[in-house]
Amino acid sequence: MPDQLAVAVLGTGIMGAAMARNLCRAGHDVRVWNRTPAKAEPLAADGATVAATPAEAVADADVVLTMLYDGPAALEAMTAASPGLRPGAIWLQSTTAGVEAIAPLADLARRQGLVFVDAPVLGTKAPAEDGELLILAAGPEEARTPLAPVLDAVGRRTVWLSDDGTTGAASRLKLVCNSWVLALTNGTAEALSLAKGLGVDPQYFLEAMAGGSLDCGYLHAKAAAIMRDDYTPSFSVTTAGKDARLIVEAGAAEGVRLDVAAAGAERFRRAEAQGHGDKDMAATYFASFES
Ligand code: NAP
Repeated sequence: MPDQLAVAVLGTGIMGAAMARNLCRAGHDVRVWNRTPAKAEPLAADGATVAATPAEAVADADVVLTMLYDGPAALEAMTAASPGLRPGAIWLQSTTAGVEAIAPLADLARRQGLVFVDAPVLGTKAPAEDGELLILAAGPEEARTPLAPVLDAVGRRTVWLSDDGTTGAASRLKLVCNSWVLALTNGTAEALSLAKGLGVDPQYFLEAMAGGSLDCGYLHAKAAAIMRDDYTPSFSVTTAGKDARLIVEAGAAEGVRLDVAAAGAERFRRAEAQGHGDKDMAATYFASFES
């Protein structure tokens, strides 16, 4: 395959739009589709072709990138795309789909003659915009070289796992990573909630942590969002709640009890019920207080 590829991006939400923009910048022939067209249309200014249907977006594509909400949404979009899919095309499946969803996705890929690559990403809105994502990838060896220009456009590094993609090895690693991310987020939100309740200036808490082994950049980033009351979404409460549920379910399926993740899922559910679903997941802070 040449370095400049025809790449279809299905799903142009926070992450998909940023990835599509970087694919345009890298000179690829990018076609985008989104369920809500208004979120795809601005990408025309970056050089992408906005398609009316998934099938139109994937027609003759070398690579199809899915960046949708969850596994069922990816399955639905790719089923709708089926009439346009070219056998031999590579499906770079980057939606955080969890473990259970991988088999039906891989099965659809097999039936359509696609090369399936399980490729969730680490990094949020800013790294996606900067082309600095970390891609966790598992798929057939023959997909690595042709995918390189696409992965280079959206990420700073790709970690290839020794798995053919169909067993969800990369998606399992993604859930392990996200269990840590969500625990940090909820831990930060609860520490600041407690500070508020006890009348402690949260700045003293951050100063107490600063530079020590308990400090981390993520604490400061999420604490700053809460302290500034700025919940511009990088990773929404609703999406974080979905991921928390995927983590709890994946653990339970293997007999692993995850109390912290389950409590985190409940916090995200409560924050969503309070009307904070579209805000950044730092808004789990509100789950500590009566609405
Ligand atoms: P987002 O902005 O909410 O985008 C979600 C996308 O999924 C939108 O394009 C949405 O379309 C589409 N969608 C939802 N349900 C659908 C359905 N039934 N059929 C078709 N399309 C559907 O979320 P995001 O933050 O970009 O996240 C996208 C994926 O990346 C998720 O799996 C998330 O877990 C993962 N992820 C996110 C981050 C992050 O920091 N944000 C980081 C790593 C991974 P509409 O516009 O029509 O609603």
